[in-house]
Amino acid sequence: MLERVRALQTTDHAESLRVLAQLNAEEARLTPAERWSLRYANGWEAMYQSRYATSEALFKDVIAHSGDTLLVDRASALLMSQFGLTRRYVEAFQLANELTTRLPRIVDADVRSVVLMNLSQTSGLAGQTSISLGYAHMALEEVPRGGSACHPAAFLVEALYNGKQLKPDSPELRQAFDACPAAEQPVYYVNLQLTLADLLLHGGQPREALAIMDRIEPMLHATGYAPYRLTVQANRALALAALDQDAAAHKLALDLIAAHPEEMFGTWLKDVYQLLYRIEKKQGDAAGALGYYEKFAALDKAYLDDVNARAVAYETVQQQVLSQRLETAQLAQQNTTLRMQRALDAKKAETDRLYVLLLLAVLAFGTVAMVRLKRSQLQFKRLSRLDGLTNLLNRQHFVAEAEQALRELERQQVMGCLVFIDLDYFKRINDTYGHAAGDEVLRYAVEAGRTQLRAEDLFGRLGGEEFGILLVGCTREQGSTIADRIRGAIEVTGVDFDGVTIPVSASAGLAFTDTSGYDLQQLFRAADHALYKAKRGGRNRVFVEAVDPGLSGL
Ligand code: GH3
Ligand code: MG
Ligand code: MG
Repeated sequence: MLERVRALQTTDHAESLRVLAQLNAEEARLTPAERWSLRYANGWEAMYQSRYATSEALFKDVIAHSGDTLLVDRASALLMSQFGLTRRYVEAFQLANELTTRLPRIVDADVRSVVLMNLSQTSGLAGQTSISLGYAHMALEEVPRGGSACHPAAFLVEALYNGKQLKPDSPELRQAFDACPAAEQPVYYVNLQLTLADLLLHGGQPREALAIMDRIEPMLHATGYAPYRLTVQANRALALAALDQDAAAHKLALDLIAAHPEEMFGTWLKDVYQLLYRIEKKQGDAAGALGYYEKFAALDKAYLDDVNARAVAYETVQQQVLSQRLETAQLAQQNTTLRMQRALDAKKAETDRLYVLLLLAVLAFGTVAMVRLKRSQLQFKRLSRLDGLTNLLNRQHFVAEAEQALRELERQQVMGCLVFIDLDYFKRINDTYGHAAGDEVLRYAVEAGRTQLRAEDLFGRLGGEEFGILLVGCTREQGSTIADRIRGAIEVTGVDFDGVTIPVSASAGLAFTDTSGYDLQQLFRAADHALYKAKRGGRNRVFVEAVDPGLSGL
């Protein structure tokens, strides 16, 4: 019966619930080992029903007390996945690290499969698309004997989707549909159809997206998985609005919000509020529009914060792992040295020379290992100075490096120019084309800027769509020319995204060391002021700090 529950969980969920209830009723007749399996099965079901406190307690109990390695690995994989779902990212990535270390010792094919798929999901969450794809491919290559390729194929699709690499005609999607027929794998089949509908909806094919959602509607209830129903309702409202059926979209959106508490976090809620805002605005209800806009803006910010929280959690865990490894290596080396010394004491005399040589060899080996580890730690440090999206210096490190560069310029009495760049109406780009498009525009603008710079110039991301550049050794004219070239390079063509061309422009403000001095704060203030003037002057232009207060202009 325990095996039946496991087999039916995603194929015939209602039946699996029935068998599970029967098992729980007869728990007294089970052996201790069977009881642990039952706990795990109850944990699985609680997680599926979004009763996360219950599933966490059950999984933790299994991990700490069952003594059954296979169950411990399974429960760890699911707990990791749940931590990801509930935004406890540090715990998720810590478990991911433990499971990665344990992976070579996990030989049971079923358990390996569960671990690999959940590792794929969790590394995707950390924004590590290639690692996520790697685990999904491994899972697909290691399908257990007699098992189905459906689950790993669906996880591969999810990894591609989260990495923004999935298209409606991707062969991986085809492969997953082939492996997950509706009759045998309803849950995964529905999930794949929802993914496809989402791609079509955001790719400008709302009608096709609606058709898919209509088709799977009868299957939704049978899956017993609440998040699917929410996604469908939200996407349905978005699709109707895209087809200009505002009244129907409006009603659906309101029903959806009324039926679900706002704590049910998800990007869909943000999309729904944005939709309501647009509809109210179109109908001329300014007060209603503002109310929805405020909700949308708050969720939009929460979404960006969440993406950021994941990146920070990932870096934190990486750092912890590296320093742990470094400590372990140090301890191992001290141990070896100690043992060698004891051996030396015992066998003095003629073997002395040999042991000394050996000891030296061990120490040398240890040193090399330490240097390697140190180097990888430094490498990591370097990475964490970079902004994840654009690979530019992040604000903190831009400031640190710019201050150092300015000290050096001052010592040599060489001029420097500080350029502030801010993309124009960027919020509108996000609102119109979505965040993914916004991200693409950011990357594009950075690449366009980079082509105009020399290796010694510093380029950093100061915040959302604001960038700072310190040009070392430049005259006022050269500074203005370069800033204007960057502005021109950003403007020259639009950004292609999903078949549409998004127009982009940027404004820039400049400050120079000959008027503002070598103090970074002073330069920041002057460049910021010039940027403000460039914006006020109509955007898509470069403005130079005033030589004297009151004088200004390019
Ligand atoms: P202006 O021309 O006056 O500069 O208008 P703006 O819309 O560009 O200025 P504003 O500062 O109001 O908007 C910046 C927006 O940038 C708000 C925020 O949602 C968005 N943003 C910040 N960071 C990111 C990011 O990493 N990715 C994306 N896609 N958007 C971001
Ligand atoms: Mg801007
Ligand atoms: Mg801005």
